[in-house]
Amino acid sequence: MSNTFEKPILVTSPHLPPLEEFQEYLQDIWESKWLTNNGKYHRALEQALCEYLGVKYISLFSNGTLALLTALQMLRITGEVITTPFSFVATTHALWWNNIKPVFVDIEDQTFNLDPSKIEAAITPKTTALMPVHVYGNPCAVQQLQEIADTYGLKIIYDACHTFGVTINGIPVLNFGDLSVMSFHATKVYNTFEGGAIVCHDAATKKRIDYLKNFGFAGETKVVAPGINAKMNEVQAAMGLLQLKYVDQAIEKRKAIAAAYREGLRQVAGIRVLDDMPGVKHCYAYFPILVDKVVYGMSRDALYEELKRHNVFGRRYFYPLISQFPTYSALESARPGKLPVAEKVTEEVLCLPIYPDLDMRAVTQIVELVKNGDA
Ligand SMILES: *Cc1c(COP(=O)(O)O)cnc(C)c1O
Repeated sequence: MSNTFEKPILVTSPHLPPLEEFQEYLQDIWESKWLTNNGKYHRALEQALCEYLGVKYISLFSNGTLALLTALQMLRITGEVITTPFSFVATTHALWWNNIKPVFVDIEDQTFNLDPSKIEAAITPKTTALMPVHVYGNPCAVQQLQEIADTYGLKIIYDACHTFGVTINGIPVLNFGDLSVMSFHATKVYNTFEGGAIVCHDAATKKRIDYLKNFGFAGETKVVAPGINAKMNEVQAAMGLLQLKYVDQAIEKRKAIAAAYREGLRQVAGIRVLDDMPGVKHCYAYFPILVDKVVYGMSRDALYEELKRHNVFGRRYFYPLISQFPTYSALESARPGKLPVAEKVTEEVLCLPIYPDLDMRAVTQIVELVKNGDA
């Protein structure tokens, strides 16, 4: 089979800067022996990211999940939180670890983000916040969500782990809501091996987040909160500074790959691709397609297996839904039939490989494989 790749093509492959450039940072860290606790690279990266992302305050974390946990602690969220079933499990796990009941609400058919029109029906006296996700980096309906939050007195914590540098009409998506949580995990558009951050809008909030991520320490002998250890270390921060040099290039490569996929797949009957949203600058974190079994003549799972036979490893992000995992499936809001759009999308979605080093010829070949189905 000429279309079969010799080496497996995975859904993603981390972007890494030249090793020699990283060694210079390591040399410096070795000499200084300052490895963590708000070191110079940590401070430099916070400043550089504020500038790059166009945000006022950012607090770096060792990973995105600890940042989510801390964001909920920061705002003292309790009771029930309305969230999406269509995300990576960590979004809901963060609620569980804070003893908060997740209430799942369905997603929009166009963006796969939390559907604002279905939120009001799920609000109870116990609801304290919304936790939407900008899925695949596509911004949520931020204005509508804010109106609901304002009307009902709710906080908004965005899981912004898929976004990096995404803007709506020039406004960074991270500036909406009370807090936004980022991940810099190896598989994300911008990585520090592992890493994460909370974006907030005022100095007092940033200060308290910084206490929380360092055991609650507000001075040598003063502890002001039952904090956790979620600090980013100097090696991660140095990697972050170096990665920033290359991230624009990396996003441009992703954009070109997304354009090639769209061009190639748009006319394939039964395959749906997502387009850029008006006024939005995207980061092309993922390339999801939806497979209509009847029209395409093959199910998503069959296509997934067929691609694997050709050494192409897409991923079914997000399948199953978070609400379908045994941990959560007993919840009232998780019951089958309650989340019709999400239940359909999770059966049809497949994310195709997209990463900066992916060869354009490989993209063309993957397009051909999808076009031909099991031919
Ligand atoms: C990656 C991811 C997380 C978790 O981030 P980590 O840095 O891996 O802990 C949370 N939510 C979403 C939507 C993610 O994609």
